[in-house]
Amino acid sequence: MTEPKIKIETIPVGSLGTNCYVVYDEESKLAAVIDPGDEAEKILALVNSRQVTVKLIIHTHGHWDHTGASEALRRVTKAMIMIHQADVDLAGFTPEAFLHDGEIIFLGPLEFKVLHTPGHTPGGITLVGKGLAFTGDTLFNNGVGRSDFTGGNETALWQSIRQKLFTLPPETVIYPGHGPSSTIGQEKKR
Ligand SMILES: [Zn+2]
Ligand SMILES: [Zn+2]
Repeated sequence: MTEPKIKIETIPVGSLGTNCYVVYDEESKLAAVIDPGDEAEKILALVNSRQVTVKLIIHTHGHWDHTGASEALRRVTKAMIMIHQADVDLAGFTPEAFLHDGEIIFLGPLEFKVLHTPGHTPGGITLVGKGLAFTGDTLFNNGVGRSDFTGGNETALWQSIRQKLFTLPPETVIYPGHGPSSTIGQEKKR
């Protein structure tokens, strides 16, 4: 059996340059959009140009800069919105499904595991694929997320990072909610 080929496209959106990721399997062309924070037209233009079908809209957390274009995207694509239950109030929309710690999400032949990584927000999650992780605003290239917003918790944030993220293989590539990517090994050394 041949390995499924994952493709990841980064679209910086909105006033904070939030990373929206379009993730898809090159064979089936089934896609997930992670954190459509703004600029639905820009995201849809890429989706159309790659001729992929968006099945899932997945949120690393409920902040506005990561959720602003979700409803617009759902209206056009009919994709399922997914978010952790603890961030629903923050996001303000009604999702089709909640994300749970340890849950496996299937996208064609691709599999992703949900890790509940609270601290930046109560319902923050990291989405882990083969050799990679979408860390939202929990872990960045050269920095960790803020915990001083409403619902933030510094102790919980560090617990999430040390127990759930720094225990991933060091070569795991991280795709954060803002800024360039990095690896778990690189961030552990800082
Ligand atoms: Zn945030
Ligand atoms: Zn953010």
